[in-house]
Amino acid sequence: MVSLTHASLTVAISHTPTVHGRLAALDALAPDFSLHLSKSSASNRTVRPTASIPIEPVLKVTNASGPQIGGDVHASVDGMIPSDWIAARVDETLRLDYELTKKDGVALADFVGKHADDTWLFQEILPYVKKHTERTPFVMAFLIHLYEQVESEKLIRDVATNVFRDVLFSMAADFTLEEKVESNKRQQTTYCSSSPAFYEPPNHPIEGSDLGTLLGQCISLGLTNEVEMLLDNTASQLNNISESSVNYITFPLLKQLLHVWKEGGVDLANPAYETFFQRVIATKIMRCVKMEPVMPADWSQRPQGCGCEDCRKLDRFLTSPTAKFERFAIKESRRKHLERQLNSCSNLSRTTDRGRSPYSLVITKSRGGWRGEHQAWETRFRNTARTLRSLGDDEMKQLLAGRWEELMELRAVKSSTTPAVSGITPLAPKRNIQRVGPASKFKRHIVDLTDD
Ligand SMILES: [Zn+2]
Repeated sequence: MVSLTHASLTVAISHTPTVHGRLAALDALAPDFSLHLSKSSASNRTVRPTASIPIEPVLKVTNASGPQIGGDVHASVDGMIPSDWIAARVDETLRLDYELTKKDGVALADFVGKHADDTWLFQEILPYVKKHTERTPFVMAFLIHLYEQVESEKLIRDVATNVFRDVLFSMAADFTLEEKVESNKRQQTTYCSSSPAFYEPPNHPIEGSDLGTLLGQCISLGLTNEVEMLLDNTASQLNNISESSVNYITFPLLKQLLHVWKEGGVDLANPAYETFFQRVIATKIMRCVKMEPVMPADWSQRPQGCGCEDCRKLDRFLTSPTAKFERFAIKESRRKHLERQLNSCSNLSRTTDRGRSPYSLVITKSRGGWRGEHQAWETRFRNTARTLRSLGDDEMKQLLAGRWEELMELRAVKSSTTPAVSGITPLAPKRNIQRVGPASKFKRHIVDLTDD
């Protein structure tokens, strides 16, 4: 057991670089303290510290400040801790200015539920959150976890409603689905257009399910304007953020939204919800499934030659719309030269015919490139169609309304010349949906909310 003085604790906590780290240390030190702004009640109070502090926060802070506490020991604090001392440490914490994260948002909201009264919330914590609205995951985590304080009856609903309204109004201009990664932290990536799977997105997408949860909480707090603002903002941003972020965010968001709407018995017959689903699904289809690759109209390919005599013959063959194969009966060095020119081509096969001397290089045109692209497209098409169906028939018919068939069949990305994708059965005719009492109606249906 290591004994710590107030002075060394002050140094230790002031060396903890994060909001969540400092709040965890304070919470571990004195789990029962509560912060009130009224001076008369705070000045003379002391808090009995916890007998021993979990080593994690202490180890962390002491590593930074110098005194070493090694191993798995616990630190103990002797004597009483004045409330003023804790209040001063919280004040310092709320002056930290750095790139706040989701963890900080969670810690701050939990701290409110455990240790702070409404006055502290409005006068100290709210201005701090509003000052950092450019950190969308931080703000979202703070609001989501603040709402949980209401559910566990540590916070009054009206207080949470006011905080939500205030914070969402402040963040309207800053809300982003994709956080910028600072250029010095940006990882070296190489863009390869033929293999998008290896392309790392330069920015971090937010969690779609978190946004769905937040929207559900806003609805249950009666914040209609704020919900419409967030829905509209989200649908617009999906057109501009990276394709990988659209892929990452869209379906978890829609699934979570349907889930919270169902849980809350929310009426889906709402033009704002319909518009949102139609816009988001149309964007997801266009940006992530993309247009079906059209089969080449003839056999012509791009020339690959260097301009030498052999290459001119090669290019005449490659650019011909009708020639499918060609034979080059030439000596080995010249055959090797032609093969090198064709190294990057995926639409050709090459064999060496050793029947007679000189051997022949036989080049045959294929549609391998197009076929590969089309198979990849079919996979994207099928996965998206399957996920759309897993969202729930009745809900989708209601929300997609007049665009139901068009969107569920992904018509926008299908080329008119190729037949239907195998494995995708056509949709059943649209049933007439009565737009009353969705809560009771949905109870009879099980929506698969699991990921593919
Ligand atoms: Zn050449």
